[in-house]
Amino acid sequence: MKAKYLLFAGLLLATATVFAQPRGGGASPFGNFPLQIEKVRDGIYRISSSASGNIIVFTSDDAVLLVDTKFENEYDRYMELLRTVTDKPVKYVINTHMHPDHTGGNIRLAGLGADIVATENARRRLAAVQQLGLPTITFDDHLRLYFGEHVMDLYWFGRGHTDGDLVIHLPEEKLILMGDLFAGGNPFVRAIDPAGGGTLKEWGPTVERVLELEFDTVIPGHSEPTDRATLQAFHEETLRIQEFITEMLKAGRSIEDVQTAVRAEFGQMAFFVFGNAADVIAEFQ
Ligand SMILES: [Zn+2]
Repeated sequence: MKAKYLLFAGLLLATATVFAQPRGGGASPFGNFPLQIEKVRDGIYRISSSASGNIIVFTSDDAVLLVDTKFENEYDRYMELLRTVTDKPVKYVINTHMHPDHTGGNIRLAGLGADIVATENARRRLAAVQQLGLPTITFDDHLRLYFGEHVMDLYWFGRGHTDGDLVIHLPEEKLILMGDLFAGGNPFVRAIDPAGGGTLKEWGPTVERVLELEFDTVIPGHSEPTDRATLQAFHEETLRIQEFITEMLKAGRSIEDVQTAVRAEFGQMAFFVFGNAADVIAEFQ
């Protein structure tokens, strides 16, 4: 249970600090959690901790691609772990979205000459807080990368956790990387950042589009890899939460009542807002 609350704290504090640190965004506000590296598939690794977002490593014969870059103050430790599996240079970084537990290391990796890929929405928000190591390649809806043996389709399917979440699909591996649109498989986490363009109301339609892709393995933004059935269950619960909120509002219940009831019914982290929950619930009125 402790790990679940650390995840919760990580998501929360990561966001709370993004606007508080005009030029930084790299410092972890809650200490140095142990990092580990594990193999997901041949040429694919996950660097994880119990707090900041996953880094997913793709290796090729001559280069490395990283998905997300944790907090800046974790950089030296995760690069050390990376060097246990490859000595090749980091050529590309993909940011799944703009929160600092996914982008803090950008500044260091940009310094090594890596190109950084993100949605235009995520880059705009990083630029607004003057974060260093801004994305150099952006897209609105779709971008295909050919990296080593991997074909990687990057999609923006709509708003959810923020308005700049991208999903990565590797059609040949039948694998998807979800960022914080699906941060945790156990427990399910829906952290909504309304100031970052996040929304609960559109979260369902966004994940609906993800489920149209062909895949069997899912890597969440924070927890261990899981399967399509788990993402499907997450999506169905999202739709139930949306329905639940709509019904309560129709019955004339207050926004405070709705928030309390959703948490009681679906769990503390099934629905969590960075900032004012009223903004998120009011979208259902
Ligand atoms: Zn996030």
